[in-house]
Amino acid sequence: MEENLVVVTHPLVQHKLTLMRRKDTATGHFRQLLREIGLLMLYEATRDLPLEDCDIETPLVRTKGSMLAGKKLCFVPILRAGLGFVDAMLELVPSARVGHIGLYRDPTTFEAVEYYLKLPEDISKRRVVIVDPMLATGHSASAAVHRLKESGAEAIKFICLVAAPPGLELMRAEHPDVTIYTAAVDERLNEHAYIIPGLGDAGDRLFGTK
Ligand code: URA
Repeated sequence: MEENLVVVTHPLVQHKLTLMRRKDTATGHFRQLLREIGLLMLYEATRDLPLEDCDIETPLVRTKGSMLAGKKLCFVPILRAGLGFVDAMLELVPSARVGHIGLYRDPTTFEAVEYYLKLPEDISKRRVVIVDPMLATGHSASAAVHRLKESGAEAIKFICLVAAPPGLELMRAEHPDVTIYTAAVDERLNEHAYIIPGLGDAGDRLFGTK
């Protein structure tokens, strides 16, 4: 496996992803599944967080424990589908901050156009996890990483659900320092830059807009 790509093959993730791909999975169920997979993906993406020893007292004795050390986390969903991951991730890491970046795909060029950005002031002191369910052309993902780097972020990871080869290639070329976590690498993009087989438009399926 490439160094900066982690495909999460855990059976629970694969089972839930298959349910999400089905066209007759209802909006509420789709949203719930995205939350559940979000938790499991973040579990994988936080595997390498540093720990430090500390002294604690249990009700019985003094002992040593381990606590997270170093930079705190900041989740950055790419609007709007990335929002589907955030609540679950905050349950796992309640102290994390959340930045938002709004990017839409120009329907003809498929280039990413930014329309919103709000990040925590201390972003440079945090480990940033950008989240967006679909890594298709990679234009939005790459633009989001460029913007976060411009804002001072140094340690950046990217979590998605389904990735396509063009998106992975663009990210590898432009941001080889960013590790990507995905539950699947699909075959290709169609002429509208949708992932095949994919799961359709993640935002529409999440919010029931189509
Ligand atoms: N965005 C989506 O929501 N779905 C795709 O297949 C590609 C981009």
